[in-house]
Amino acid sequence: KNALPNLAVLAGHAKVAFGDREFVVYEDERVTYDAWHRAVASLAQALKECGIKKGDRVGLAMRNLPEWPVAFFAAAVTGAIVVPLNAWWTGEELVFGMADSGAAVLICDAERWDRIAPYKAEMPALQHVMVARSGGAAMAEPATPLENIIGEPKSYSNLPDLPLPDVAIAPDDAVTIFYTSGTTGKPKGALGSHRNLLTNGLSSAYSGAATVLRRGDSLPEPSIRASLLVIPMFHVTACSASMIPTIQAGHKIILLHKWDTVKAFEIIEREKVNATGGVPFIAWQLIEHPDREKYDLSSIDAISYGGAPSAPELVSKIHEIFGALPGNGWGMTETMATVTSHLAEDYLNRPESCGPAVAVSDLKIMSEDGTTELPIGEVGELWARGPQIVKGYWNRPDATAETFVDGWVRTGDLARVDDEGFCFIVDRAKDMIIRGGENIYSSEVENILYEHPAVTDAALVGIPHQTLGEEPAAVVHLAPGMTATEEELRHYVSERLAKFKVPVKIIFTQDTLPRNANGKILKRDLKALF
Ligand code: ATP
Ligand code: MG
Repeated sequence: KNALPNLAVLAGHAKVAFGDREFVVYEDERVTYDAWHRAVASLAQALKECGIKKGDRVGLAMRNLPEWPVAFFAAAVTGAIVVPLNAWWTGEELVFGMADSGAAVLICDAERWDRIAPYKAEMPALQHVMVARSGGAAMAEPATPLENIIGEPKSYSNLPDLPLPDVAIAPDDAVTIFYTSGTTGKPKGALGSHRNLLTNGLSSAYSGAATVLRRGDSLPEPSIRASLLVIPMFHVTACSASMIPTIQAGHKIILLHKWDTVKAFEIIEREKVNATGGVPFIAWQLIEHPDREKYDLSSIDAISYGGAPSAPELVSKIHEIFGALPGNGWGMTETMATVTSHLAEDYLNRPESCGPAVAVSDLKIMSEDGTTELPIGEVGELWARGPQIVKGYWNRPDATAETFVDGWVRTGDLARVDDEGFCFIVDRAKDMIIRGGENIYSSEVENILYEHPAVTDAALVGIPHQTLGEEPAAVVHLAPGMTATEEELRHYVSERLAKFKVPVKIIFTQDTLPRNANGKILKRDLKALF
């Protein structure tokens, strides 16, 4: 009936092609493609009964649980726009997302509802709330337990086999509002389409397939890959570059509620996980944990990440320690995840790059004022285009006009592209430090600090200076049991980089640096330390 590429068609294909295979595993809950489809169809019907129709917004606020991909698709197949909200957000921030998007229904977990419920009056559009994992507790109106509607994940296979809603969905219809991470300002809602998700999924699936091809017959079971999904599904990377390509290929994802290195080791061993990663920070945690060798992690053949700058050193470590192929990808919420993809030997040979553009994308480097394309090798603002890139922001015409220009997205990142097409991110334009007219790119100095044997985490920030404007300063976390003085680190940098790039001050922290849910260091918070 409806053959156009959209998420309803994808769900239908997955049920037919992979029905008996496991799709989502969470603790002792195992949901097959068929069971997931039954839950999606049942919840979609419930949403229709709540009055949800094409274009309406449905908020989704929960940690990684099997209910997440059920709720996401249930809303998508009714033609609604899903608004995945950051589960790390406070009540006020969650309410900002609900009110900004005007969501009529919220599907959330009990913890999120506890946070949001006190602000009910600030969400006039909100009609219904469905709460997963409510544990039978009494809940503030208008909430009902999600279990009452579709049961628990363990019993999804007993649900009736309903058809998906009869609604015409075109590939370019809107289906998501993902909020940007808010690293540089207030989060903006990127309005994504079915086509954005499907094309990003396909190019991400290709990256996975390329890894399989390169590993060849050393893979135990190359046809079904198991990934440990540790990053939150409310970020495009997990939703669009992990969940969607998993469904497109009939693979399996294992969910982790909350990052825990030992638990990750246990799952990798038990489920024979092939791929994991997400953000560089996770890869470091896997490498540095003292109990790593107690587990059989030999099934891992790929560890890939993106979303934040990573130390070049990480690349060879992944290869040496796990015998796995490293992967990196650059993207942003506005690009529905992946714009560059850097794999295997290419990455091992160019650890400072985030790779070339994926097949569906183009990159260009523009002058800061956006008027001139710069020659190969020069640093300027990265612009990107492709069918996975969203057309604009929700309700933000000014920001849309500024960022989306002639079919390109202005990324706000400073980068260069070499003569082979490899892209190198040097900084965010907003983080670049200008010291008396000299540009200092954070990544260059951070990468040198990372090379020092005692340093495991480092960030460069600009601190105000009366005549120079700004000066570089660093915040550093040392490996347990290692020592280094401020003087020693400054000397280490000065032997490797020009004098003006050497941090004038270095602060040591006991903990690893503060990061948001997407693994990005919160530089605005670090500046306050000086
Ligand atoms: P906001 O736009 O609200 O300030 P944000 O830009 O951090 O938040 P995201 O869309 O999650 O929100 O992140 C996109 C940014 O992440 C990119 O602009 C880039 O700075 C950074 N990034 C993503 N992937 C990589 C990568 N592989 N290497 C370096 N930086 C990356
Ligand atoms: Mg951004």
